[in-house]
Amino acid sequence: ARPTVAIVGRPNVGKSTIFNRIIGDKLAIVEDKPGVTRDRLYGRGEWLDREFNIIDTGGIEIEGEDQIMRSVRMQAELAIEEADVIVFMVDAKAGITPADSEVAEMLFRAQKPVIIAANKVDNLGRADDIYEFYSLGFGEVVGISGSHGTGIGDLLEAVTNHF
Ligand code: GDP
Ligand code: MG
Repeated sequence: ARPTVAIVGRPNVGKSTIFNRIIGDKLAIVEDKPGVTRDRLYGRGEWLDREFNIIDTGGIEIEGEDQIMRSVRMQAELAIEEADVIVFMVDAKAGITPADSEVAEMLFRAQKPVIIAANKVDNLGRADDIYEFYSLGFGEVVGISGSHGTGIGDLLEAVTNHF
């Protein structure tokens, strides 16, 4: 079967922007199960000769800090369940936030491969912003920019190495 990649992270880090860049126009139509509201988008991506399913977990974003944390937690749990490889997206401009640390803790327990995508590295002067994310305790940090589309090849290379 095709491997599944999930993009997880707190709201506003750029998950949907990267998801859309990766899938192009290959958005998958997923039927809602009765009584279950879909809170994530499925698409299909490829890198070189590798095809994979990819999930954007950011569907639900409810107002209020507690609600945001709750939905981020739920999304991380779903991703842990469904994914073979997890892309943990953070905002390189913002640095590590408490919500990032909480997601990191959950992903750490999951024992699945995790790649940190440090988004919003919009110019080379920002390249050093990614190093603090190594302290979250996962091996790989890849700097990317959803605005410019840079680094996405490196990210997909790191992801597909785990298939
Ligand atoms: P999500 O909530 O994690 O799905 O994040 P979105 O993809 O909706 O993006 C949140 C905001 O960040 C939007 O205003 C995007 O235009 C912006 N954004 C996404 N990628 C980048 C990037 O690489 N650089 C900058 N400066 N902004 C970005
Ligand atoms: Mg989103």
